[in-house]
Amino acid sequence: MQILFLGTRGSIPSPGSDFSQYGGNTTSVIITGNNGTSLVIDAGTGIRQAGRLSNILEKPVMTLLFTHAHWDHLQGFPFFPGIYNKNLTINMLIAEPHLDSIRECLTKQMSGDSFPVHFDQLPAHIELIPIVNKHTIDDDLSIEIFENNHPSGATGVRCNSNDESITFITDNEIKLLKEQKRYDEFVSFCNGSNIIVHDGQYIETDMEIKKGWGHSTINDVAGLFIDTKPEIGIFTHHDPDRVDKEVSALEKQMQKLCKDAGNKTRVIAAREGQTWSTGS
Ligand SMILES: [Zn+2]
Repeated sequence: MQILFLGTRGSIPSPGSDFSQYGGNTTSVIITGNNGTSLVIDAGTGIRQAGRLSNILEKPVMTLLFTHAHWDHLQGFPFFPGIYNKNLTINMLIAEPHLDSIRECLTKQMSGDSFPVHFDQLPAHIELIPIVNKHTIDDDLSIEIFENNHPSGATGVRCNSNDESITFITDNEIKLLKEQKRYDEFVSFCNGSNIIVHDGQYIETDMEIKKGWGHSTINDVAGLFIDTKPEIGIFTHHDPDRVDKEVSALEKQMQKLCKDAGNKTRVIAAREGQTWSTGS
């Protein structure tokens, strides 16, 4: 299995030379099963990069999952080339509780007021598919979902292919999951994953004003990797104000936290354009 990062930034794109190493586009990833079935998750501005999606766009059907309706996960959708292809069917997977809000936000975003093309008039055939607990895409790839702690909610996704798993959790506040006594349930959801990707937007001092905003700190994500022991642990949804050298420093800090706890996970800060494979 593998994961390709098309966008690694949280909240808003951050262009410029200070952000070139880890990337400035907002969240979008492609997860691919062992037999080549792909799932695109979220349509931040990273999804605009058609070159990196060429394998997917050549097929008649693709699958796109939205974690939630916040701006940085939808804002690239009007610029995604696949929606203008009349020969493409897009199966849009959405956790059932978020279906109405995501449909409404996609429609509003493309209503003529802020974008000239209307959602209802897109050439591609779009099928909205509500998900409850799990969903099988095909023999190669299936998913299970978790309700994250995030304002208005967000969906965590575990992708399974044969006996392998990649778990992708963006927009989730681990501290509040602990306060709600849901952390053990979350660890069980992630346990056994070969690769875990988790939102690591904040550092502890951010929480003085940003507690309750729905994101996790580097320390809490290190704790998750220590508790779940994936082969590879990746933090993403980098803060838009965090320049490359600061993200690098956080990567080193998280590596040290894991190493000091005797954890063998390979800890990495997500970089736009980079692919990670199970067993690598
Ligand atoms: Zn976000």
